[in-house]
Amino acid sequence: ALRAPPIAFDNSYVRLPPQFFADQAPTPVTAPQLIKFNEVLARELGLDVETLKQNAAAIFSGNELLPGSQPIAMAYAGHQFGNFVPQLGDGRAILLGEVKDRSGKRRDIQLKGPGPTPFSRRGDGRAALGPVLREYIVSEAMHALGIPTTRALAAVTSGEPVYREEVLPGAVFTRVAASHIRVGTFQFFAARGDTESVRTLADHVIARHYPEIRDRKNPYLALLEAVADRQASLIARWLHVGFIHGVMNTDNMTVSGETIDFGPCAFMDAYDPATVFSSIDRTGRYAYANQPAIGQWNLARLGETLIPLIDPSVDVAIDLANTVIKAYGERFQACWLAGMRAKIGLVSEEDGDLDLIQSLLATMHQQGADFTITFRRLAALAADEDVTDFAAAFNDPQAATLWLGRWQERLARDPQTPAARSAAMRKVNPAFIPRNHRIEQAIEAAVEDGDFSLFEALLKVLATPYQDQPAFAPYAEPPLPTERVLQTFC
Ligand code: AMP
Ligand code: MG
Ligand code: MG
Repeated sequence: ALRAPPIAFDNSYVRLPPQFFADQAPTPVTAPQLIKFNEVLARELGLDVETLKQNAAAIFSGNELLPGSQPIAMAYAGHQFGNFVPQLGDGRAILLGEVKDRSGKRRDIQLKGPGPTPFSRRGDGRAALGPVLREYIVSEAMHALGIPTTRALAAVTSGEPVYREEVLPGAVFTRVAASHIRVGTFQFFAARGDTESVRTLADHVIARHYPEIRDRKNPYLALLEAVADRQASLIARWLHVGFIHGVMNTDNMTVSGETIDFGPCAFMDAYDPATVFSSIDRTGRYAYANQPAIGQWNLARLGETLIPLIDPSVDVAIDLANTVIKAYGERFQACWLAGMRAKIGLVSEEDGDLDLIQSLLATMHQQGADFTITFRRLAALAADEDVTDFAAAFNDPQAATLWLGRWQERLARDPQTPAARSAAMRKVNPAFIPRNHRIEQAIEAAVEDGDFSLFEALLKVLATPYQDQPAFAPYAEPPLPTERVLQTFC
């Protein structure tokens, strides 16, 4: 009997016009070995897990192409640190194809690091083991935190070296995304004056991600609005957990609203809105607190590409687009404030809440308080009298108790019982985030000693970040001064 292929590919992007992508098969590697296969995600995607497992290293290195796969490299442009590059594209990624997952949602399956493509420029098309492990850990952690993100389906070592500043072990990462269409994909065609391709792309994106707006009077303006809404909500969620993306170039911003491209990203330990980890972000363009404004800047770039579709009059189109870009700012602020209210345990709303929240953040900043620990201890405090633990998170505990006085006064006017409030706060204030020093330790053990036990431990603890896991208590702690990792590299 004929067996169904282990992945039931159903590829829509290859049916778009040829200028959207280049056909490109992966370049085989010499000795692929499986690091990790995400069986839970594979089941969610409706894949034949048992068959894939038998041959996972060959399949997820790109050495073996499965029936139905139509491998391509996608074309895109992008603003990198504010400078426009008219052609970037998948220089080290190959889309194997798309599947409909168990809920009927279309999902991309893409290899990262499978060899050169027509978009590689001077790059080798490969990925090093360290960044592959970081992306695996952080993208799965984001998902467990409940934040929209691309996912990790598999990681393999290639058995081949890659040459960066040093010689590093190579690896291939398998990424799953609602789609890999970026703001930069729109820019690719707009920069060429190819309005018809922008329209084709916009129609594809509406059908795929925003079918509810298809029949709107101005679907292209509605598309801009829809992307702006998802990005406002997404970036607010990043801020709520202390996430710093690190390279918010327009080619690294999806139109689906998923977090993508975990390069020099990191979570902050001590709260400081100016935090930057990325070694290449010299001016702090992508610092923690700049992210909402950069999101708006990127959306303005998306808006520009849609101008000819929004209205025949350029002036009218620009006015309409500007209204949406402005509304993004309000939408972001509303999402952020709602999330911050939840973090400090409020279900009611008062005008003074913003000031109360800002005063906590300012105190945390002045007093070197760890972002994650402060909110997790505040959750405990909501059902407990003893302020010692919470206050100890601040250099000067006195500053903490001053703020607590204001907080308790406000709680007296909020309807929840202490137990319910504490439980609700624990669901939005994680105990565990992928702390940078833990990621670096896991990478170092894997790269230096071929030891993946720290990588596995991190995946395990980060899978349930809102649960106390006493066996993993050290993973909740900030780094010791000697463990601190202040820079990340892509
Ligand atoms: P990123 O900084 O990951 O967003 O990548 C920016 C651009 O550089 C994209 O077009 C990538 O495909 C390309 N790129 C990054 N690393 C490599 C590499 N090793 N080989 C080829 N292209 C690369
Ligand atoms: Mg990128
Ligand atoms: Mg990258």
